Amino acid sequence: MRLSNVRLGHATNSSSSHSIVLLESQARDDLCGCTDMLEYGWENFTLGTSDAKRDYCRVAAFYHYTGLGLGDTEAACLANRAFGGPIVSTELLADSGIDHESIPHFPRPVGETDGMMPLWRWIERNVIEKDRVAILGGNDNEDDHPLSDSGKCFALPWGYEGAVRDHYRWDPQGYIATYNPATGKRLRWCLEDGTPPARSTWPELIDVKTTDCCDAGCAHCYQGSTPDGEHAKMDNLHSLAYQSRRMGVFEVALGGGEPTYHPQFAEILRTFHDSGVTPNFSTGSVIWLGDRGLMKAIVECCGSVALSVNSLRGDAVLGARDWLSVAIDSGVPSPALHVILGMQSENVLQCLMDVADRYYARVVLLKYQGGRGRAAATPPFDTEPSWQIVLNSETLKWGRLAVDSFLAAEVAARIPRADPVSYEVGDGRFSMYYDAVAGIAAPHSHASDDQREHVRVHDIERWWQGWQGRQRNAKAMRDLRVSVPADVSAGV
Ligand code: SF4
Repeated sequence: MRLSNVRLGHATNSSSSHSIVLLESQARDDLCGCTDMLEYGWENFTLGTSDAKRDYCRVAAFYHYTGLGLGDTEAACLANRAFGGPIVSTELLADSGIDHESIPHFPRPVGETDGMMPLWRWIERNVIEKDRVAILGGNDNEDDHPLSDSGKCFALPWGYEGAVRDHYRWDPQGYIATYNPATGKRLRWCLEDGTPPARSTWPELIDVKTTDCCDAGCAHCYQGSTPDGEHAKMDNLHSLAYQSRRMGVFEVALGGGEPTYHPQFAEILRTFHDSGVTPNFSTGSVIWLGDRGLMKAIVECCGSVALSVNSLRGDAVLGARDWLSVAIDSGVPSPALHVILGMQSENVLQCLMDVADRYYARVVLLKYQGGRGRAAATPPFDTEPSWQIVLNSETLKWGRLAVDSFLAAEVAARIPRADPVSYEVGDGRFSMYYDAVAGIAAPHSHASDDQREHVRVHDIERWWQGWQGRQRNAKAMRDLRVSVPADVSAGV
């Protein structure tokens, strides 16, 4: 199995431990520890054959369905349907057991998928049918399981008791994407022999422009937003939330303009949240911290809120410090700082990194985007002196540094240990931009005019799939050119 585009989050532990391991050679036959009663508890056990692993997974599926409130008969019926092989009776499943802290908390499906079936099929192929995969059981209080050193233990797309349940989406391109709404952790899981996904059938993230109104007047504003800028219509945003839910979009990043100036911003947050899509936003304003109604919606609905420090008026370091302090005290979820790399002096950047470190806040570094709006007149900044500060920062050391996809290649060049599966270079393959004010879709917010298209909200899925098709064709043409010998191509 391969993981790609890992975004790390919190881990959970359990006192009993049931592990899925990849053994050096074919899994041994099932050993003792579990009985014909399908009890998987505290004692060591080994499940090596397909039948034994299927029984375990069937019991886990039975727990999943009863956990959703279904009765034993209905849950047994669905658990039997989930995995093939001989039917297990309702009575046996009802009497079966997995130690409570090792019961898998399977992710819940999002989008227009076939419910849990894609996940059950994924488990069938990756766990049950793989000869080298075994399920080991045991506990943390006694000696390790005798086979625990004979293979690699690996994570699977589910959590355990105490963790917020992931969302999952099956992609017809052959992989599962999971997303945790509490931590933002997002992973893509493909088969051991499959290639890492290059694109998604539906966007995982949409960057949404909700308003063109902003009074900050920043010279670096590539949106060219003004105090008279228009707001997106609520009809469009309601419809976008519906379409996002239908496509299984995990998150939206709301921006503007200044998104909090939209008069119905609290309703926008609730609309996405109630559709099962996490709303996040970035802001250059601090006024909303005093709006109790909006604060309630932010605390209840948002995944993360970022302060754009380059848009603050006055002292950026003091502003960031005060904002983080108030935001944390007020319960704003996962407050972060957005910093455009190279736009501030090295001293200021160092102080910003120190402030973020003091408050355990994430820092998201952005590449300066010129060429549009008021930024058309501002040349790019020299980022070289900033990198040393970033690379020596505690924020990087503790895994609280993020970069936008335009800086990813630069980071990778400077951090040789950066694993290519952990970052995304370029937008428009798993995420897109939608300007809900003007009704424009694009691969990202600074896309060139020829990449922007007027698209109604209900046509976003069609636009996305058309865009993916065009990009795939363009890549195929490029690959073809590369594979044609120079002397042949010269003669064409
Ligand atoms: S960059 Fe952001 S804060 Fe500054 S004017 Fe543009 S929208 Fe407003």
